[in-house]
Amino acid sequence: MQQALSLLHPWRCVVCQQRSDQPRDLCRACADELPLLQQQCQRCAEPLAVMAALCGRCQQKLPSFDQVFAIWLYAQPVQGMLTAFKYQRQQVAGRVLAETAGAHIADAIAAGDLALPQALVPVPLHRWRLLRRGFNQSHLIARDLQRCLQRRDMQLNLRPSLLARIRRTRPQAGLDLAARRRNLRAAFSVHGEVPAHVCLIDDVMTSGSTVEACARLLKRAGCQRVDVWVLARASRID
Ligand SMILES: [Zn+2]
Ligand SMILES: [Zn+2]
Repeated sequence: MQQALSLLHPWRCVVCQQRSDQPRDLCRACADELPLLQQQCQRCAEPLAVMAALCGRCQQKLPSFDQVFAIWLYAQPVQGMLTAFKYQRQQVAGRVLAETAGAHIADAIAAGDLALPQALVPVPLHRWRLLRRGFNQSHLIARDLQRCLQRRDMQLNLRPSLLARIRRTRPQAGLDLAARRRNLRAAFSVHGEVPAHVCLIDDVMTSGSTVEACARLLKRAGCQRVDVWVLARASRID
């Protein structure tokens, strides 16, 4: 049956493009190449060169969010897969990453290393950017993560409209940290009842300014704990 199916629908790895008779969009060899984030700040998941509990910035001032869980470093092939997902509409690349991440997250929750939040909240796009792109990548990732967790009997809500982006901001890429913070001032608003424990979902975290702005706002609105789950963590620029 499997072989008959694979003749009708030959599976192809999204990274190396090799055909496979296994029902997989990512071959085993490429899956093993994904750069897992190893040594990191316990609070913001900043990649660290030496073992330490907190990065220099978190030691100076703790962020508003409580814990960041990032699966991979923002490096190849994850970087290329996320670019294909966001800018070339290759939704399979995003789905493969989200489902693989979902398995890691479910394992971490089952092991007691990660708390199960009440709701997943995708970092919103401004409606103009949403119109241009046609989808919010964070929303699709959050939906896939929710499905992965539900398959493991971990129930949580998806709240894509809890946060809205009310001010159109310049793209964060290429801005230094101070400019990123200025850029995000008053960019978001909260709508509806705020759960006590939410988790923000985004594809990539770099400076952390976006999730910091969202977390600060959610806490001001009564949220007690804000975690952040991202697929990839880039080193910040400072
Ligand atoms: Zn491959
Ligand atoms: Zn940190």
